[in-house]
Amino acid sequence: MNYYLVFILTILIGSYVLEVIVEILNIKNLKTDLPGEFAGYYDAEKYQKSQQYLKENTWFGIITETVFTPLTIAFILLGGFNYVDRLARSFNLGSIPTGLIFAGILLLLSQIIHIPFSAYATFVIEEKYGFNRTTVKTFIMDILKSWLLMAVIGGAVFSIVLWFFEKTGTWAWLYCWGAMVIIQLFLTFIAPVVIMPIFNKFYPLEEGELKSTIEGYARAQKFKMKGVFKMDASKRSTKSNAFFTGFGKFRRIVLFDTLIEKHTVDELVSVLAHEMGHYRKKHIITSMLISILTTGLMFFILSLFLNNQGLFAAFKMKSTSIYASLLFFGFLYAPIEMVLAIFGNMLSRRHEYAADAYAATTYRKPEAMIAALKKLSVDNLSNLTPHPLKVFLSYGHPPILERIKALRNLC
Ligand SMILES: [Zn+2]
Repeated sequence: MNYYLVFILTILIGSYVLEVIVEILNIKNLKTDLPGEFAGYYDAEKYQKSQQYLKENTWFGIITETVFTPLTIAFILLGGFNYVDRLARSFNLGSIPTGLIFAGILLLLSQIIHIPFSAYATFVIEEKYGFNRTTVKTFIMDILKSWLLMAVIGGAVFSIVLWFFEKTGTWAWLYCWGAMVIIQLFLTFIAPVVIMPIFNKFYPLEEGELKSTIEGYARAQKFKMKGVFKMDASKRSTKSNAFFTGFGKFRRIVLFDTLIEKHTVDELVSVLAHEMGHYRKKHIITSMLISILTTGLMFFILSLFLNNQGLFAAFKMKSTSIYASLLFFGFLYAPIEMVLAIFGNMLSRRHEYAADAYAATTYRKPEAMIAALKKLSVDNLSNLTPHPLKVFLSYGHPPILERIKALRNLC
């Protein structure tokens, strides 16, 4: 009896069962009557369509998990990891290249199995509800680009971590942590200029009322930034959003072209004011510090399980290695990660209320903020009545009706 195996199987099956329960509760929580707040934004037919969309996505998610969970378990029990390890070792390379081949094969396998599911989600479900604008070419190019990116960044990170754990002994986890913080910061800085343009085009926002109102508001709030950009999100989907990237003076605002199409200037500025609120209220830096701390925690716990015989036996491995330890540790860490995510989401929901309040009190047009929130949830067919357990476990934003209620309480 291998206790690691029992633990890992319990986690895999347990989280599958939990997900199915939560998703079914979430569907059961759908109300047939349109919430009064949304009168005029939804007609009965469109509201029903939004619920149909949720149901279809939910069942598709459950089916996906029903395929992947047994597949993962079978791969573990049938010694799949050992088979891949033997293949990787057969090249007779050093431990770092061997580790890269081992992780690379596993990652590629899982990515390939995921393709039909992601194609179905994009070309069948999203298409049916009128969201999809992705062409087959964009779909394939996105996959290839993300693989390339994963190979470059993931490969570098994996090699660095392996190297520290193999060469530096007891304090390796501390070095890994330091290296990871530097890489994370570096990626945050280069993402808007190097990584994001691989997938989308960014245009400076044209002169006009929108640009001057945004700049006027930012100036009044003494908010420094690099510029306002429009992103060609419409090449993939009609869904809309806005976000900030970068730090300090390099901050840039990005608006989806799909968002600009559908909102008034006041609504757009309210959305941006909300995003600025996240910086002003130090939410960005807080989240970053928390992520740095949890990364450190993860490396420390990881260091306790390197080359653990019991763990390797659970995965039917004939020989131990640091690179395989890193992967297997992921299975042990999953429950800790889930608990951390719950706390992270709790904090994030509080931040959302605070950013809404910031936008409403500084731009002083709470009605525009409320209208923007409503339009966003109608355009994206968001669930207006999620189950509280679903919100507790996985919502980084409060349910829309609660955000509106909080905004109304401010005025
Ligand atoms: Zn927010």
